[in-house]
Amino acid sequence: MLDLAEKTPVDGPDAAALAARVADLNARYRHHSATAVMQGALQNAGKIALVSSFGAESVVLLHMAAVTDRATPVLFIDTEMLFTETLVYQSEVSERLGLSNVQIIRADDITARDPDGSLHRRDTDACCALRKTEPLNRALASYDGWITGRKRFQSGTRAALEFFEVEDGTGRIKVNPLAHWAPEDVRAYMEENRLPRHPLVAKGYPSIGCAPCTSPVAKGEDPRAGRWRNQEKDECGIHFVNGKMVRTGAKS
Ligand code: SF4
Repeated sequence: MLDLAEKTPVDGPDAAALAARVADLNARYRHHSATAVMQGALQNAGKIALVSSFGAESVVLLHMAAVTDRATPVLFIDTEMLFTETLVYQSEVSERLGLSNVQIIRADDITARDPDGSLHRRDTDACCALRKTEPLNRALASYDGWITGRKRFQSGTRAALEFFEVEDGTGRIKVNPLAHWAPEDVRAYMEENRLPRHPLVAKGYPSIGCAPCTSPVAKGEDPRAGRWRNQEKDECGIHFVNGKMVRTGAKS
């Protein structure tokens, strides 16, 4: 049984204890399925949320969460820069899966810090911090852990991803049930469960973020090549060290 309910301080011996607990969880769950990791986290992990972008592959984890507990807290960050298709998809998928606790998270100071909505043209890191990372960090403050859809195959920076990770400096644990999945596993799960695809996937968007920073991908390109195209950036910065956003590496 997972035991993440006890909130762990972030420094010194307690941080070491948290790291040891995560290592133990990874050892215990090494041969378990994604569904088992998801169910174990939701049923035994204290206060935990699923963070979802309702993007190209998000419906897999949303379905796993709905099957386990439809009242699972689902945090959806509306950057106010998303495609209209994503907003419609979020609403339709939530209803179809019967998710009853979808929380829409928005920044509360966009008017002051990005009054004309042009910050993404000058400084994508600052824009992601304002519209994604800071609101998510605030929303997660009362949680013991969170579930993400990150997978090893997605980029070089995720190649060593495990089911469980310590989030440096926050005392939270990140759970990555799909860490070991390949693209074929994602496709097969969607087909077997007849899950609706994000409408932009059929239009050449295998990875979907904000409209100004996402472009279609050509055949043979890396699926994430359309995210912040022609920039070094490859992650939105939803990662924390000592409670602060950090960059996670260059585009693979
Ligand atoms: Fe801003 Fe682009 Fe980041 Fe969205 S992806 S928050 S528009 S920089």
